[in-house]
Amino acid sequence: MIVMKFGGTSVGSPERIKSVVNLINNETPKIVVLSAMSGTTNTLVKIAGLFYDRKQTEAVAEIDILQNKYEKVAEELFDSNESKNEAAEFIKQRFDLMRGFALKVFSISDEKTILAQGELLSTTLTHIYCKEKGIASVLVSALNFMRVDRTGEPDTYYIREQINRELNEYPDAKLFITQGFICRNVTGETDNLKRGGSDYSASLIGQAVNAEEIQIWTDIDGFHNNDPRYVTNTKAIRELSFDEAAELAYFGAKILHPASVLPAQVANIPVLLKNTMSPEAQGTIISSQTKGEGIKAIAAKDDITAIKIKSGRMFMAYGFLRKVFEIFESYQTPIDMITTSEIAVSLTVDSTVHLDRIVAELKNYGSVEVDRNMTIICIVGNNVMTSKDSISKVFKALNDVPVRMVSYGGSRHNISILTDSAHKNEALNSLNGYLF
Ligand code: ADP
Ligand code: ASP
Ligand code: MG
Repeated sequence: MIVMKFGGTSVGSPERIKSVVNLINNETPKIVVLSAMSGTTNTLVKIAGLFYDRKQTEAVAEIDILQNKYEKVAEELFDSNESKNEAAEFIKQRFDLMRGFALKVFSISDEKTILAQGELLSTTLTHIYCKEKGIASVLVSALNFMRVDRTGEPDTYYIREQINRELNEYPDAKLFITQGFICRNVTGETDNLKRGGSDYSASLIGQAVNAEEIQIWTDIDGFHNNDPRYVTNTKAIRELSFDEAAELAYFGAKILHPASVLPAQVANIPVLLKNTMSPEAQGTIISSQTKGEGIKAIAAKDDITAIKIKSGRMFMAYGFLRKVFEIFESYQTPIDMITTSEIAVSLTVDSTVHLDRIVAELKNYGSVEVDRNMTIICIVGNNVMTSKDSISKVFKALNDVPVRMVSYGGSRHNISILTDSAHKNEALNSLNGYLF
């Protein structure tokens, strides 16, 4: 069994859905995981926002526009009246459900229900298209097996039990289609794995069914050595280790959801990144094997907050860092980067939900400075310092960039640099010039 996940652009139009069906129509047993058509989840987020703001008329207007878009997609995608009618009925049902929220007090659970509609639509339309073309496929609802626990983390035991139970109901089936992104929470309500979460669905499914390979099909020819949204002349990397890919995904490489590498790594299942727009391109393989030495890629993560705690009491004292870390722990706020000097420690967080209370408590231990709108630039590779001039190149590249923190040594695979987000573009481009 393999898992093939197709992202929003890959299913973004009737034409693209047809190409996807071409790619999945072969004898290899597979589970196909689909995102919502590109743009849909953003619109659903907007609709939910309007309901929260009690702007019912505007929300319903957005729903009408989106429904109209899907009606056109169905009109173009299908040939037979039977398929067209089936799709029209499903579309109407989904959009009537959304309009129904105009009549009640809007809740978080309603928001999650709205966000789930994109994946429910894309999978159903693809399934009907397969049927029309005489391709046998089974549509399995992710809401029947994908679940997060009380802490919001995937319940891997439950997922494994339930998905295998679902698949075993169809012993002869070769092609299963399911939704990425959506799941249920511990009380059984519809929930999701956060934005970009379809990659995570694919790797959780891969782990649950012991897949031979997890394929992530997207709109670019693999993992690039720098962020193509900010840097031109980036190049696809052929091979990455799980550690390298996890680090890059966590530190902002949008091609993979930050959590999506771990389930594949735990189960030792290779992840192949492929381009739906040019399926013949080689792509990138992510596996337990580490190939090559030195700097391989750069990624950047925005919306970082840096916190500096300075205290004379830290000098030669033990227990100081523990006290600091305990405060973050008590507010369930993960720390990304840390640097220390004898009298101060700087660290970064990407969640500011509890920042005010954290800062208030930290003030018991020294003076506290907070810098918002920072970016972590993460330079990744196997033994990044292998080449003796790598660090000098990094510093030369950052000559004109105000660097707030530098971290190396947590592992030999990563150098992290913190700078003001205003300098991100310049830093990424300059590093690209010096390093690649
Ligand atoms: P999908 O909808 O298929 O999940 P995404 O938009 O989430 O696709 O991810 C693919 C995009 O990630 C690419 O189009 C590219 O702009 C962006 N991206 C950012 N960093 C990288 C990188 N290092 N390598 C490849 N793509 C990257
Ligand atoms: N449709 C969801 C999103 O746009 C999930 C995904 O595409 O991975 O965030
Ligand atoms: Mg994505």
